[in-house]
Amino acid sequence: MMMNGIRKLEACATVLTAACLLAAASAPAQEPKPAAELVTLAGRTMGTTYSVKFLQPPSPMAVERAQQEVGELLEQLEQAMSTYREDSEVCRFSAYRGSDWFAVSADTARVVEESQRVSELTGGAFDVTVDPLVRLWGFGPRRATGETPPEQAVAEARRKVDYRRLQVRLDPPALRKTSPEISVDLSAVAKGYAGDAVAACLEKSGVTHYLIAIGGELKVRGHGSQGRPWRVGVDKPLDDGRAVQRIIELKDSAVSTSGDYRNFFTANGRRFSHVIDPHTGRPVTHNLACVTIVQETSARADAMATGLMVLGPDAGYALAVKHGWACLFILRADSGFVEKPTPAFEKLR
Ligand code: ADP
Ligand code: MG
Repeated sequence: MMMNGIRKLEACATVLTAACLLAAASAPAQEPKPAAELVTLAGRTMGTTYSVKFLQPPSPMAVERAQQEVGELLEQLEQAMSTYREDSEVCRFSAYRGSDWFAVSADTARVVEESQRVSELTGGAFDVTVDPLVRLWGFGPRRATGETPPEQAVAEARRKVDYRRLQVRLDPPALRKTSPEISVDLSAVAKGYAGDAVAACLEKSGVTHYLIAIGGELKVRGHGSQGRPWRVGVDKPLDDGRAVQRIIELKDSAVSTSGDYRNFFTANGRRFSHVIDPHTGRPVTHNLACVTIVQETSARADAMATGLMVLGPDAGYALAVKHGWACLFILRADSGFVEKPTPAFEKLR
């Protein structure tokens, strides 16, 4: 089957997701706060862009130093977790065929530990051992070949996927595989984790008001300038261009979106998204265009958005309602996009 069209906004590690930073202003808070300087840091990491806005604490940080610290931190995380760098910890672990504990950084161990929790919560819909399938479908470091893979190759790759054959320990931090062909792809959770790590780095310097965006993964605490709440836009799942579907105000939380519209290819009129169902070995095919979720940590939000994207509009929605998560599911219908917010999401407005 020939590929009719391919869409990849970026050729490397991760691709822009839906939620985008809009602005840091809205209704004034009740008490006027003394104006603190709003600092903006920006750069590139993990195949996408990042932006960090924060209010200076009482003893202000030197902006150049903050930029350098954040840049170095992100570089360190990318070097640990990228599937696009053959010498990253994750790639070296994937290539390792032994069954002994393999030493990794504390960050990598924490990301894997969190990933395993999300795998349990989603019944394996989220699974970082999905790596062979991601590569087979052309969403890894090597671009799609222009064909959908043969049935047998899908079945073969699927047999190498199972998060229960991956183990993690935190002290000392290490990973272990119980079958040699297990390999790891942290693309669906690393950006979120990076947001939490940047937040911790700022907090160490006394910062208590910030908005961090790593690609589409957002993390906020406190408020913006003059005590105004941070507001973020949830994008419409458009293939081309950008438009805002909803605006939400956030305080001390993280929001992530996973969708089928920023990174996919089409073959014979069908859309093949970069989110893969580990149970079928295939890109998801339901009519869920995207799902946005609010959680306490950005790592959890990032991973869970992907997990819910795999579970789809019915099972995913039911799981979100059961746990009381604030989620906005956007479905494709003949008439256009249809919103399916959970009760907890409705309360955000
Ligand atoms: P983005 O990377 O665009 O922010 P996601 O967070 O949803 O979007 O991550 C998608 C990436 O996650 C894919 O490109 C792939 O590398 C990986 N992936 C695909 N399916 C799964 C899955 N079921 N579980 C975990 N990771 C996945
Ligand atoms: Mg994700």
